[in-house]
Amino acid sequence: MSVIKVHDKAFQPYIGEAELQQRIKEMAEQINTDLKGERPLFIAILNGSFMFAADMFKYLTIEAEISFIKLASYKGMKSTGNIIQAIGLDEDLFGRTVVILEDIVDTGKTLSQFLPQLEHQQPKKLIVASLLTKPDAMVHPIKIDYLGFSVPNKFLLGYGLDYDGLGRNLPAIYQLVESEQ
Ligand code: 5GP
Repeated sequence: MSVIKVHDKAFQPYIGEAELQQRIKEMAEQINTDLKGERPLFIAILNGSFMFAADMFKYLTIEAEISFIKLASYKGMKSTGNIIQAIGLDEDLFGRTVVILEDIVDTGKTLSQFLPQLEHQQPKKLIVASLLTKPDAMVHPIKIDYLGFSVPNKFLLGYGLDYDGLGRNLPAIYQLVESEQ
């Protein structure tokens, strides 16, 4: 793998395809053990998590369902600030074991707003699986139950993550070249 150019920026290889697959397989095996017999509902947050969700789901051997949602942020009433709305979430979560699939937890803002909405539906368990997190960027602490990799606070691209719409198709993860940040 070598340095690539996307739009006006250069990105260097950071996590290779084989390493990604190995780690996702390990995460899935742990979930297979922990959630056996629970028939969990996986909720993948689009767009970024589509590759992670697809690969994770292939490694699962337990009975499981999956649903894909988009989160839309809009300005609420004066005092409430931004509100997150889930588009495409039709399932009733009451009493279910729910696993959220995220590409990356960065500041934690998205999940800190979204998870309480799901809790409201009283699932039996609400579990978070994220491929990546940036601990140095975390402002709203999120408990990640299954984590792929902790990464430095630098912009990443590939394996579902985009830079201005491009790069999602890359099978590995790349990091913005330092001098360009
Ligand atoms: P948070 O609400 O945790 O700050 O942000 C989470 C979302 O920000 C992720 O789902 C992802 O869409 C986006 N994000 C955070 N860090 C990166 C990054 O390094 N690269 C890309 N492409 N998106 C990121």
